[in-house]
Amino acid sequence: MRIDIITIFPEMFEGPFNHSIIQRAKDKKLAEIHLHQLRDYSTDKHNKVDDYAFSGGAGMVMMIEPIVACIESLQKERDYDEIIYTSPDGIMLDQPVANSMSLLENVIILCGHYKGIDERIREHFITKEISIGNYVLSGGELAAAVIVDSLVRLIPGVLGNEVSALSDSFQNNMVAPPVYTKPRNFRGLEVPEILLSGNEKLIEEWKYEQSLKRTKERRHDSI
Ligand code: SAH
Repeated sequence: MRIDIITIFPEMFEGPFNHSIIQRAKDKKLAEIHLHQLRDYSTDKHNKVDDYAFSGGAGMVMMIEPIVACIESLQKERDYDEIIYTSPDGIMLDQPVANSMSLLENVIILCGHYKGIDERIREHFITKEISIGNYVLSGGELAAAVIVDSLVRLIPGVLGNEVSALSDSFQNNMVAPPVYTKPRNFRGLEVPEILLSGNEKLIEEWKYEQSLKRTKERRHDSI
């Protein structure tokens, strides 16, 4: 998968994209992430990419020209499956959305700032709008990083153990069961006996029951 991110703060991605699973996916050539500084597409001598909103009101709006210039220069090189805008009013990112998007080959993610982007971009150039939750962030960068992480870990071959993404929460409409590791006894706090029994069938049943119980307790309203 190739992901092109349009942003005025490319440095914000240095942390999340250069470690752990995303770094591994890049090393294995299963994911390519390209960052594009939106200001490079401004024709203004100060590289301005925002201006006052028509009708007034507080806050600046990101301008259409540099954003469209950047999108179109990318489209000259290849076709894109989706041009995504990170937006608090977009469709909510959840596991089914991540699963379906992880099959895409080329995507653009546009990070907004200030009061958002000129509506004409949303109407005519954006193909999908994604929110990471019902709250407002200062910019789309953190949302884009979350979206990319949720997609990249699903690309076949990225996770060492293929089954592991499938056994995570939400993949079967349930949250994951509790997990334990050594020591077996920490200050009298014991690991459930059944997990030490070696009986795979009973362990699988236990995990299923725990998942069901947790899902009812914690997510009965949403899945
Ligand atoms: N005025 C807008 C908020 C702008 S916040 C409104 O009230 O809806 C600035 C930018 O941060 C947005 O353009 C968007 O790209 C990003 N952003 C903020 N909250 C987000 C969220 N919950 N999910 C995804 N992107 C978000």
